[in-house]
Amino acid sequence: MSTKVFGILGWPIKQSASPAMMTATFRYLGIDAAYVPFPVQPSRLEAALRGIVALGIQGVNVTIPHKQNVLALVQETSDVAKLAGAVNLLRVDATTGEISAHNSDVIGWWKSIESHMTPFGQTVTLLGAGGGARGIVTGLALYAPQSKVKLVARNIDQLHKFQSDFGNYLSIEPIIWDKRHDAVHAADVVINATPIGMWPNDKVSPLEDPNCFRAGQVVQDIIYRPLRTRLLSQAESRGAVALDGLWMLVYQGAVALDYWLGVEAPIDVMRQAALEFVGAN
Ligand code: NAP
Repeated sequence: MSTKVFGILGWPIKQSASPAMMTATFRYLGIDAAYVPFPVQPSRLEAALRGIVALGIQGVNVTIPHKQNVLALVQETSDVAKLAGAVNLLRVDATTGEISAHNSDVIGWWKSIESHMTPFGQTVTLLGAGGGARGIVTGLALYAPQSKVKLVARNIDQLHKFQSDFGNYLSIEPIIWDKRHDAVHAADVVINATPIGMWPNDKVSPLEDPNCFRAGQVVQDIIYRPLRTRLLSQAESRGAVALDGLWMLVYQGAVALDYWLGVEAPIDVMRQAALEFVGAN
């Protein structure tokens, strides 16, 4: 039997920890498969999808900037991906060449936080209203619809779009960026879904005043490079529990393994491989 090929389409792509994590996972599980980073310019996305079908590639992850554009180019989309309005996981049917699309950020995010807190907090303050935030709000709508979400962004149109897309599923209070410290102080769970604090700009935090954090909160940064962002250090300094972004990456990878191969993920092996990648870069 020939080697199975999987990969990730993005632009740029060399920052992704997924190739290191998935390669280590295949090796650990004894699966004869490769996971390849494919740099794909936005203008070449459609051609790249024809390419993966033609080459017999069995599945790919999709990352920035393709997560939304890919929706129009696939034959089947899961309900979760439709609700999120974004896709990050594709599977090719070897017989028909049809592509199915799913969103593993949604359940990946939920598992990353659910496994660290029981019960799940009531008030959730979410910083950012981009693709990552859409996955998180979809996860809240599906798995914790009792949550009261304080959604903080600098763009009013984005805030209104979230309300119209998700307002039927859960309570979303739009909060303008300048008011973020109060919204953070009021929350049981705080999540950063902006790129503020990501390497190489890792000296900054989306929150200037660490006194907005308090003991009893769970604070998650979905950035995973650096692992310990400034935001997480601030939160821990005030007694909050800090959760790094690598957990979300690992759990979305676990969903991909199941979607492509129906195999159970070795979470610890995946996290260790991803940690080594982050530490080595
Ligand atoms: P995105 O779609 O570009 O959204 C980013 C959001 O942050 C937007 O709402 C954006 O607002 C806001 N933002 C950016 N800079 C800002 C600033 N200086 N002040 C206030 N708001 C700002 O990006 P994304 O895909 O959601 O990714 C966000 C971060 O999450 C990235 O670091 C990414 O690597 C990480 N991520 C991690 C995982 C994981 O598995 N751990 C998964 C997905 C994403 P504007 O639209 O106004 O610019």
